[in-house]
Parts: sequence; structure tokens; C-alpha cells
Amino acid sequence: MEQGGAGQAWRGAGSLDELYGLIRDCRACGLGGTRNNFVFGTGDPHAGMMFVGEGPGYHEDRQGIPFVGQAGQFLDQLLGSIGLRRAEVYIANCIKCRPPGNRDPLPEELAACTPYLFKQIELIRPRIICTLGNFATKTLLKTDVGITRLHGKRFVRDGMVFVPLFHPAAALHKPPLKATLIEDFQLLKAYLEEGWEAAGAGARPQTAAGANAGAEDGPGAGDGGDRAEGTEQRQLGLF
Ligand code: URA
Repeated sequence: MEQGGAGQAWRGAGSLDELYGLIRDCRACGLGGTRNNFVFGTGDPHAGMMFVGEGPGYHEDRQGIPFVGQAGQFLDQLLGSIGLRRAEVYIANCIKCRPPGNRDPLPEELAACTPYLFKQIELIRPRIICTLGNFATKTLLKTDVGITRLHGKRFVRDGMVFVPLFHPAAALHKPPLKATLIEDFQLLKAYLEEGWEAAGAGARPQTAAGANAGAEDGPGAGDGGDRAEGTEQRQLGLF
């Protein structure tokens, strides 16, 4: 099926507004027929920091805005805890339409939709991407390593720094995860104060093929293929 109601024109979009206009009527997968709203993303189109979740839930589908339910309110609090408002970052999801019953997205839905997320990232070009939960972490870091091992760490990919975090919805259900997520936001704040995110801009560009997260303590451990070079590696304390 055709992506975005406008063929492949969206690939050439020069701004988020243009991209939205070209894909908002997307019918590339079955979710196009069940959604109430296409949940594109929200925030500063030039944000230095981006947060990526899994996909819209009930409230997001109703309102057309990501992270507006309970998990979203918690995300707002977490942002507030490090002195940020949602308008100062960019928030999006791996998929733009709600899977019925909040089931996990199917592989074909992901395949149809993640190119839109990658295009958003290309247009925003944030210095930092926080992946919220296993799903977004696995999708963006192309890893099988679970969030329990990766949360709070920093990984360089394509000149950006990725920080996997527990998903706020998971944290709301499990008090120990909630405490960890609150702590990880303080780590994020400390990282920001160090100015470490600028180092991502100098990191060696990484192809998708080389971006496997590896089996050790996180992406890149042992394979060398996706590391920031020498000094940057040490500055970032990545490995
Ligand atoms: N969970 C997500 O992953 N994304 C949302 O937008 C809301 C809840």
C-alpha cells in the first residue's frame, strides 16, 4: 500500500509542517482505517532534545497529540524536574496511529510507519534522543538488549546521543521503575550540564547496518563500529 496519501513525496519534505501535510491521511497500514487521529508529534521543530515513545494510546488517539494521558502527565512532571517544558523538546512515537486495544504494533505497521519517524529526526536533527521504553529503544538503537540493561546510558549514533529510559507508563505501574526513571532524569540533567551532548555532533556517522547494539553492556560494546572516536568516547564516558 502507498505510504502517506501522496506517494513518496513526503520523503522530500523540507519541514515538519510539510511532512505532516503529506502523511496525515496515511493509509499505508491497517491502522489508517481504525484510528481517530494521526498522532504526528508535538513540540519545538528545532528542539535539541527529542523523546520517542511506542505509539498513541486511547487519549492520544482522541486528541491527536502524543503523551497526553497519565503517562504523558508523568512525562511532563519528569521534564519539569529538569527545568524543561514539553514545548522546548520534541515528542513523537515510533508509530503514528493507535493499535486497537493498545496491542503492540505489528511488524508491518512498524515497517510502514518508522520511516516517518526517521524523516522527523532528519528534519529536527536533535542532539539528544531519549527513547522511552523497550520498544522505542529497540527500534531506534536496533538492538535486542533490553531497557533494563540500557536505561540511563548514552550511545552515539549518526552524530546524535541516544539515552534509553524506562517508559513512563511502565514506571507508573511499578514503583521501583518510577524511582529509577526519576533518577535517570537527574542523570540526564547532569549530562546536559556537562555539555556532553555537543559531542554527538562530532561523532562518526553510522550506517544502520553497523548500528547493532551488541551483546555486551550496551550498543557498541565490543564491536567498535558505532563508537564515537577516541577523545569523544572518553569525554562521553560511553563505554
Ligand atoms: N505511550 C506512548 O508510547 N506514546 C504515547 O503517545 C502515549 C503513551
